[in-house]
Amino acid sequence: MHSFKYKSGRLKCESVDLAALAEEHGTPLYVYSSETIISHYRRLDKALSDLDRRICFAVKANSNLGVLHLLAREGAGFDIVSGGELYRVLKAGGKANTCTFAGVCKTEEEMVQALNAGIYSFNIESEPELDRLNAVARRLKLKAPVAVRVNPDVEADTHKYISTGKSENKFGIPLSRAEEFYARASKMPGIHLRGVQMHIGSQITKPTPFSKAIRKMLPFVTALRRDFGIESFSVGGGIGIVYEQAIESGAANWWKSSHSGCMTLEDYASVIVPSLTQTGLKILFEPGRLIVGNAGVLISRVHYIKEAESKTFVIVDAGMNDLIRPALYESHHDIVPVIKRNGAKFQKVDVVGPVCESGDFFAQNRLLPTLRQGDLVAILSAGAYGAAMGSNYNSRTLPAEILVDGQHAHLVRKRQSFADLIRGEYVPKLKK
Ligand SMILES: *Cc1c(COP(=O)(O)O)cnc(C)c1O
Repeated sequence: MHSFKYKSGRLKCESVDLAALAEEHGTPLYVYSSETIISHYRRLDKALSDLDRRICFAVKANSNLGVLHLLAREGAGFDIVSGGELYRVLKAGGKANTCTFAGVCKTEEEMVQALNAGIYSFNIESEPELDRLNAVARRLKLKAPVAVRVNPDVEADTHKYISTGKSENKFGIPLSRAEEFYARASKMPGIHLRGVQMHIGSQITKPTPFSKAIRKMLPFVTALRRDFGIESFSVGGGIGIVYEQAIESGAANWWKSSHSGCMTLEDYASVIVPSLTQTGLKILFEPGRLIVGNAGVLISRVHYIKEAESKTFVIVDAGMNDLIRPALYESHHDIVPVIKRNGAKFQKVDVVGPVCESGDFFAQNRLLPTLRQGDLVAILSAGAYGAAMGSNYNSRTLPAEILVDGQHAHLVRKRQSFADLIRGEYVPKLKK
């Protein structure tokens, strides 16, 4: 969160005052720092500079057109999981031939769309999917570029909902069956074998699961290059970030911070790069959270302080429909006042939203500087899997999103109106 800092007690994003932004655009409000996004991207690229590489940003982490545009300008590729994400990438100025298409349930329509656009590779997750892609490509008289997602069966040591590299997950082909899979694919007239892919999970804070998975894959990857002439190996995403004390710990220089128990970016690179250089392949990376997680905050206003029998509830106007991570993964987000109050005492509180669900909380039994009605708070590290997972639950309109660029604040998504909320819905003319 190094571009989010207090200046005279007021929280800024780069040179922009967050309280002023909240006054202008209302709350809840997502604010992203372009400086942070770019510096994370460049830092990763530099750490991997010994490799022939491409960084494909995982669009599902943050699919805002402004964010995608920023990364497209940096030369990033994109890892997409739907036709909708491909549409966004192209609208934002990304190039189709840098896109890898992941996901277990690609439809025929999505295959046609991506083939016609000319994507870099389809990451195939099952035999019936391969059969379908072969048929679709033949019908279009094209050859579909393919990488097979191989499941290395390693423990990612993360939340069970975001662990994907164990044999019991729905993702990928087991390593034991992968050779046969490639042999079969190589005979298909509509398929061009371009690479191999893996992705073991998300928010992984130690290098060991990555190095273990790569070590397990290497003999097979080498054989694939020899036997089928593949050109690339995607090692997926999943690099974890610091979620705690993101501001106090020296502005979340998580790459410097071993205090947090989270590996640094350089730790990650130094462990995996040597073994990957030997492959002679182009190495693809699919980071999402790493690039945008600490580049975004969710600004919310305190509406009520409710003193219940055993607890104090700070009720804010952002809800689980805006940021679902605490409800879904029990994840921690730091919460800080946008304007610090001199001499504020600390108080143990629950910070909760307006949604009619007990899971609608951002913090429980958290010691925070005492908050009052009308105060603004910033929920930190909300740039990844925040707005992208937003919904209209409780018929709440989606918040506005701002991309800060130095002293400029660009509106990159307008707050939804009630008309937006019901767009495409109809009141039926009932027959009786
Ligand atoms: C979700 C996902 C990513 C990105 O994961 P992060 O933890 O955000 O880096 C990359 N690749 C695939 C296949 C994914 O499903």
